Amino acid sequence: MKGGDYFIAKTDRYAVFSKKWMSNILNFISKDKKMAKCKTCNGKGNVDCPICKGKGRTDRLLGGSNQCKNCNGSGKVKCSVCNGKGVI
Ligand SMILES: [Zn+2]
Ligand SMILES: [Zn+2]
Repeated sequence: MKGGDYFIAKTDRYAVFSKKWMSNILNFISKDKKMAKCKTCNGKGNVDCPICKGKGRTDRLLGGSNQCKNCNGSGKVKCSVCNGKGVI
């Protein structure tokens, strides 16, 4: 059964080749992922709060605490595009 053996060997080689090829593709994709900086937050992982526009306070209330509730007064909120990671 020489022909049959040859066929199996060829199939094995193809399987190894496609495995390597797949891992190369996956490596390439994960590398690309690591390098893709989030454009929304410019890689910082947070963005200016849209409610207070980065001030941490709102002008809605006269007197008393006008701390922005959306960002708890920090003026920054977690980037929703990259989920605070700074990369996509
Ligand atoms: Zn805010
Ligand atoms: Zn981001």
